[in-house]
Amino acid sequence: MPSGKVHDAVNLALLPFAILTPEPFEPLMLTAGYLVGTLLLSPDLDLSSSRVAMRWGLLRAIWLPYAKVAAHRRISHVPIVGLTVRMTYICIFVGLVLALLTVCGIKIDLNPKGMLLRHAFSFALGMFIADTLHIALDVLVSSAKKLMSK
Ligand SMILES: [Zn+2]
Repeated sequence: MPSGKVHDAVNLALLPFAILTPEPFEPLMLTAGYLVGTLLLSPDLDLSSSRVAMRWGLLRAIWLPYAKVAAHRRISHVPIVGLTVRMTYICIFVGLVLALLTVCGIKIDLNPKGMLLRHAFSFALGMFIADTLHIALDVLVSSAKKLMSK
């Protein structure tokens, strides 16, 4: 399987093509989602010592239970399903932090003016493209290795 460095390099090299997604998607939000999907929420969060997990710094602890439950290259590497699970997982933690802030009297506007549904869809599409590229590269390299070993 490709290393985290290779995944980052391939995804970042293909970023200009991902941005070419037609209307009604927002290129800026798509790029943001693509970068988050590549650098912070990659399928390799199922490895506690992966490059992407290390990027979380002290917050890496959030992903330790996920890595323990999600065996490497299983559910985390299933298109759409893995990304949905990771998004749900991180939303639980974000929700807990927001609830704690609300209890402390700090209110955060979760629906800022100007935020449109298409922005959210563009962000999600960017994450989906990054996720799919990661999984495709894993499959491609694994298949090539199998063929070469025969
Ligand atoms: Zn992977």
